[in-house]
Parts: sequence; structure tokens; C-alpha cells
Amino acid sequence: MKDLNIAIVGAGIGGLSAALALQRLGFRVTVHEQAPRLAEVGAGLSLSPTAVHGLNWLGMQSVLESKAYKPEDQCVRHWQDARPLGWINRGRDLVQKYGERYYLIHRADLHDGLAARVRAHDPAAIVLNRRCERIEQDADGVDLAFGDGTRLRADVLIGADGSRSAVRQALFGALEPQYTGYIAWRGLVPMELVPPEILEPPSGIFLGPGHLVNRYPVRNGELLNFVAFAERRAWSEEGWSIRSTVQELLDEFSGWTPWVRRFMELVPSHLLFKWGLFDREPLAGWSKGRITLLGDAAHPVLPFLGHGAVLAIEDGVVLARAFAASDSVPEALSRYEAARRERAAFVVHESRKAGRQFHAPDTESYRERTGGKAADEGIGLFSYNPVTQPV
Ligand SMILES: Cc1cc2nc3c(=O)[nH]c(=O)nc-3n(C[C@H](O)[C@H](O)[C@H](O)COP(=O)(O)OP(=O)(O)OC[C@H]3O[C@@H](n4cnc5c(N)ncnc54)[C@H](O)[C@@H]3O)c2cc1C
Repeated sequence: MKDLNIAIVGAGIGGLSAALALQRLGFRVTVHEQAPRLAEVGAGLSLSPTAVHGLNWLGMQSVLESKAYKPEDQCVRHWQDARPLGWINRGRDLVQKYGERYYLIHRADLHDGLAARVRAHDPAAIVLNRRCERIEQDADGVDLAFGDGTRLRADVLIGADGSRSAVRQALFGALEPQYTGYIAWRGLVPMELVPPEILEPPSGIFLGPGHLVNRYPVRNGELLNFVAFAERRAWSEEGWSIRSTVQELLDEFSGWTPWVRRFMELVPSHLLFKWGLFDREPLAGWSKGRITLLGDAAHPVLPFLGHGAVLAIEDGVVLARAFAASDSVPEALSRYEAARRERAAFVVHESRKAGRQFHAPDTESYRERTGGKAADEGIGLFSYNPVTQPV
């Protein structure tokens, strides 16, 4: 098994976590990424205790310690007057119960840290400008064809190419995206511009009718990240890099507390993006022959629990452990799916549910509906550990 030539398509958080996990266990991998360079893309990602266990195992502690923000208490506030509706502990209580805490990190910092470690194992492991366009497999291997004319043969292929995955399409056909009726903005504000009095505490959620805003520091406190959800009847374009304007955002959040509007006013326009939230029905299986899927390619998830990157990291760690525990490729893929399918389906389902709860029209009944608890509390979301999960 250690001689296998493993190809991964997609150098996102999922592809790089899988590559690093496989390398750590002595496997040889090449990651093929369509982008011409690994650029500074995205904004904040939340890392729950389950992902942190995986990242620790991957040797990423120093990145978490130097770059991520460690929230202790997160406050849920009212959209009009910012009064507290509930408090959620993201530190000591989680450490006590699950052995790890929450971290909040800029996607680019996590991505850079993973890429550097993959390249430290093998400087040639990540190949850029490689858009995978065709895949064919037989009993012994997989043939891949890329947009630049390159062709190669691998023993195994892992499709980690995101929610609009070409590998998934080749295996299982098109998975039609359903627009959810929600859009979201993401923005980054230089922290020195933000008045400290609207940051009490720095990690906070604001709830309003049909709207939700989540904001927290990233990059060691240098930037304030926010994501702002709103209902919108129609939307067509799917993608991470659609530009917006501060005015459009402020119009959507008119009447909201200065605690929210103030940092929205301060976001530089080149750090403000919007996207439509699309949902896809879960697949019945992720693997066929010598090909499997991972991360958003396998189980696209709505962002209401902030678990897209979490699931992708867990997948990567479990996949590598499944390969290390197996004597053949079919055995490895079947162990991987068995250890991941239920967990991913649960998170996908709970994320949909959390979306409905956050967007219930009346903020006043928040305590009644939730008992003041976070959507992720008490549902077993953190009762998984990719490092110890039997494979
Ligand atoms: C540019 C970008 C910005 C993002 N920003 C945020 C954010 O601000 N907040 C947030 O919560 N989540 C963000 N996400 C999503 C988040 O990273 C994922 O939901 C989560 O990390 C799961 O990652 P993944 O590796 O499965 O998929 P992704 O992160 O989507 O990575 C997939 C990778 O595959 C590559 N790829 C796609 N098709 C091909 C192909 N045919 N051939 C070769 N390579 C291909 C893509 O370029 C990408 O690098 C972003 C994703 C991207 C791609």
C-alpha cells in the first residue's frame, strides 16, 4: 500500500489535509490544483474541537497558536439594541468535555500552514495550474486528463475539488444545486479601525428577523472577520468571489444596531464579497472503484454551523488512517466511507436545521426556542474525534 501513487484533485483545506495526513503515515501523494497560485483567498473559518484534534495530529498546533483567535465566551445579541440574548462558552467548557476548544482562523492562514507542511514532506507534492477535465478508470488505475494537456495515471484518485466537483460529476453525474433563499456577505476589517466598545466580547452573533451576523477576530487579532446572512428570493451565480458594495450591505442591514453597522461601514471594498447559499441532496455513496470524494465534493454543507472546513479536515485524517489500516484500495475506501458517512450526514442535516432556527422571524423568542443554547450545543456535534474514530 505504501507504494501507491495517490492523486488528489483540489488543494483546498480538504485536499491539503488529506495530503498531509497521508504523507504523515508514509504515503506518496500528488495534489493537482486548478488555480495558478495558492493565493490569499477566503475569510474566517471556525474550527471546532473535532477539527482541532485532527489539526493537532497533523502538526498544526503552532499555526493555531500563532494565527488563530481563541474565543472564550461568545455573546448572542439583539439586532436593534445589541442587548445580550445568550452566552456560549467556546473555551474551558469544551476543553473539559471534549479535550479541545474552538479556534477562529483566516482561511488563508490555515491553507498556508497546511501547504507549507505538505511541501516540507515533498516539495513537488502540489502541482498548480492543473484543472482536472477528464477521468477514466479500469481495474488497475485511474487516468486523468488536465486542461494544460497533461495526462497521468494514478493508483487512486481522491476528488477534493469542492462543492462543484468535477470528479463527483464524472462519478455520479450532475448534482443539481438548489438555491436556499439565503445569501451571505463576508468581509474583513482592519482591527485598528474598529472602535473597541462594539467588540464586547470580540466573538459575537447578532440575530434579527431573517438575518444573522457573526463576527470575530482572525489573523492574531489584526482583522475583524464577519459573515452576514440575509434572505433573498432569487439568486443565480454560485461562487466565492462575487464583489459587493458597502452600500448594498448597509441597505440590507438598515435599522440594525451601530454595533453591527459600524464595522460594516469600515470594511474596505476589496475585502467584501457575497455569495448565494446553495444546497445539494446528499449522495448515497462517495466511492466507485479506485476513486473517492472528500470535503465539499462529497458532502456540501450549509455554513450555519461553520462546519465545512471541520468536516474536510476530519475526512482527510480518517481517509489516511483508513489507508494505513488496509491491505487494498477497495478496503481502504470502504473503511473510509464507513467511518465518515454517518458523521457527515449528521452535520449536513444539523446545519440545515440550524439555518431554519437562526432565521426564524422573531428574535424575541430566541431564549424560548433555544433555551439560550447555541444551535450546536447538546446535539453531539463535538462527540467525534477523527484521530481515535475506529476505521
Ligand atoms: C476561494 C475559496 C474561498 C472560500 N472562502 C471561504 C470563507 O471565507 N469562509 C468559509 O466558511 N468557507 C470558505 N470557503 C469554503 C471552505 O474552504 C470549504 O467549505 C471547506 O474548507 C471545505 O473545503 P474543500 O477542500 O472540500 O473545498 P474547497 O475549499 O472548495 O477547495 C476545493 C479546491 O479544489 C480546486 N478545484 C476545483 N475544481 C478543480 C478541478 N477541476 N481541478 C483541479 N482543482 C480544482 C479549487 O480551486 C479549490 O482549491 C472557500 C472556498 C474557496 C475555494
